[in-house]
Amino acid sequence: MGYTQDVLSNVLEKNPGELEFHQAVREVFSSIEAVFEIYPEYEKAGILERLVEPERQIIFRVPWMDDEGKIRVNRGYRIQFNSAIGPYKGGLRLHPSVNLGIIKFLGFEQIFKNSLTGFSIGGGKGGSDFDPKGKSDAEVMKFCQSFMTELFRYIGPCTDVPAGDIGTGAREIGYMFGQYKRLKNAFEGVLTGKSIEYGGSLLRKEATGYGLVYFVNNMLEKKGKLIKGAKIVISGSGNVAIYAHQKIKELGGIVVAMSDSNGYIYDPEGLDLNEIKIIKEIDNKRIIEYKNKYPDARYKENSKEIWKIKCDIALPCATQNEINSEDAEILVNNGCYAVGEGANMPCTPEAVKIFLENKILYAPGKASNAGGVAVSALEMCQNSTRTQWTAEEVDKKLKEIMSNILKNISMTAKEYGEEDNLVTGANIAGFLKVANAMLAQGVV
Ligand code: NDP
Repeated sequence: MGYTQDVLSNVLEKNPGELEFHQAVREVFSSIEAVFEIYPEYEKAGILERLVEPERQIIFRVPWMDDEGKIRVNRGYRIQFNSAIGPYKGGLRLHPSVNLGIIKFLGFEQIFKNSLTGFSIGGGKGGSDFDPKGKSDAEVMKFCQSFMTELFRYIGPCTDVPAGDIGTGAREIGYMFGQYKRLKNAFEGVLTGKSIEYGGSLLRKEATGYGLVYFVNNMLEKKGKLIKGAKIVISGSGNVAIYAHQKIKELGGIVVAMSDSNGYIYDPEGLDLNEIKIIKEIDNKRIIEYKNKYPDARYKENSKEIWKIKCDIALPCATQNEINSEDAEILVNNGCYAVGEGANMPCTPEAVKIFLENKILYAPGKASNAGGVAVSALEMCQNSTRTQWTAEEVDKKLKEIMSNILKNISMTAKEYGEEDNLVTGANIAGFLKVANAMLAQGVV
């Protein structure tokens, strides 16, 4: 057995049942094997064995009282995966599906993504099986305060800087920041995704979606294609999906469908983004409400079927494993020529294989959704110098970062004999920086 196979077998044995984590490790390992033939020193230094074992895993009880006076208990997680190139950095996911395997997959991915941004940030992730949906503001606040009452011991601006993810937006970050500040008696840049009034960065909310579209646009331009005029399907209607839609509109693309976990809406003439923002960001309602204003739009009660809609470009921006091989076949047969991942690991390995075999322009999430964490790093820079940059300054930097990521991973893919395979490029480029830092720091 080869080095990657040995380590993978050990991961499967030591972490039973953590399916998403297994999938993420397999995905990275499948494209970095060539590195160990050229650089045996990584194997000698046990880099992979160390990389797959989180530096620290924190699992804790989160008790809180609901509006009826009933005691509820959730499980909290923070996985501090790798700090070789900087403090742990990665979001907090609040969703009933959250478990250890999901947080570990996200933390593992984050190591390579953060490395690709070019900033000094390590990989981490956290969250809870708490579901903010259907809870009152008071309940969300009580949960967030209880969550932070435990988490505050393990984080800090030079140690670990969490951010948002599914279910964690500005409201949740605000409650967590308030509780951290109270417990530590310190106003410091310990969370990113904060509101502008207390240290947030302009454009952080938009950053993942905008960055995704900048990345996809650059990828298309290299092949003589354009977003302008393209018909685009976006899954999800949360933070990433909405701001991807906004940038696509600015660039002249047409978003024909979006979804939430209940279903999807479709209008071949293009969806009204403002209406979606009202439903999702202001009223906090379901996407079916779109039909109240636009009765001719189609609503289908099965969000999975969104991939049956004919489109030029597909942007999965909801959750992991939302495009399987069947969906990928349908997209390819319907003439889709590009797929850009806004979500983390939204395509199964079988789906990715189909895209690559069919020469679909495929942007892996590690690279294409790195704009969010990159602007989080910019938020950390602004916090440490107590300054605030203009939206134009942040946007300019975001564009440069996304363009550099594409250049870097394209070059790496070519160097390793797999031109245009951005999966290989992203995994190897992300890995090398972290591995070299680990080598330099000795066995720690
Ligand atoms: P939000 O909570 O703002 O939105 C998530 C969207 O996806 C909602 O429309 C939600 O629908 C839908 N969704 C969530 N889970 C499921 C599911 N199991 N099945 C179907 N639909 C689902 O999250 P974000 O937009 O922040 O995150 C979306 C993805 O992007 C995640 O994979 C996240 O890890 C990734 N990401 C986010 C970044 C960020 O900066 N926010 C940065 C990089 C990656 P519903 O409302 O019905 O639950």
